[in-house]
Amino acid sequence: CGIVGYIGKRDAAPLLLEGLQRLEYRGYDSAGVAVAGRGGALRTAKSAGRVRELQARLPKRFAGTTGIAHTRWATHGAPTDENAHPHLDSSGRVAVVHNGIIDNAAELRAQLSADGVEFASETDSEVLSHLIGRSDAATLEDRVRQALEAVRGTYGIAVLHADFPDRIVVARNGSPVVLGIGEHEMFVASDVAALVRFTRQVVTLEDGETATVQASGYRTWSTAGPGTAKSPTTVEWEE
Ligand code: GLU
Repeated sequence: CGIVGYIGKRDAAPLLLEGLQRLEYRGYDSAGVAVAGRGGALRTAKSAGRVRELQARLPKRFAGTTGIAHTRWATHGAPTDENAHPHLDSSGRVAVVHNGIIDNAAELRAQLSADGVEFASETDSEVLSHLIGRSDAATLEDRVRQALEAVRGTYGIAVLHADFPDRIVVARNGSPVVLGIGEHEMFVASDVAALVRFTRQVVTLEDGETATVQASGYRTWSTAGPGTAKSPTTVEWEE
């Protein structure tokens, strides 16, 4: 339902939760957040219910200057803590938030389970974290693209990987993703409403595009290949 991501110098969790609160008007049944701490190690917190319940549940030590967060509107699996996003892979080094529906999730779950993967949720989305975690492509961008090649359905996703803590990779197919450009910091979101408190400079992804955001900037790709050099536009917004 709602996605927010941050990479920069500030502590990510408070910014991410503020972004999620700005998406509350869309409705949701659970919420969660993952941050990459020093050295990359991921920390997650998830909760059925409201963003303020997630906030109350955040561990004291939840520092990290890169993170992703989600409000879920359940389509596959009940609104429980376990089914809330982000979803991790088996190593705990990949975290994914997903909007949309993976149509061939049952098939992919069966294949992954046959390979020994244990699922921690009932969601269609969790196949994404395992597929990305099992890819041995050199770059995170290629791991994400390889995983998406196996998937049919709609998605807006944001991916955080402990081995690539300097970036967030996002992709869009049928579910909106925008990048927000700040001063030595970047945001991603499913809706500009989550970003306008932080920046008015945005880049809107099209279906089939992926993007990498780093504190220093962003790059986008289309399915046709690298180098869709997209310029930011300024959003008008009345508070
Ligand atoms: N299909 C996913 C789920 O049920 C994502 C739903 C959403 O867009 O929030 O977890």
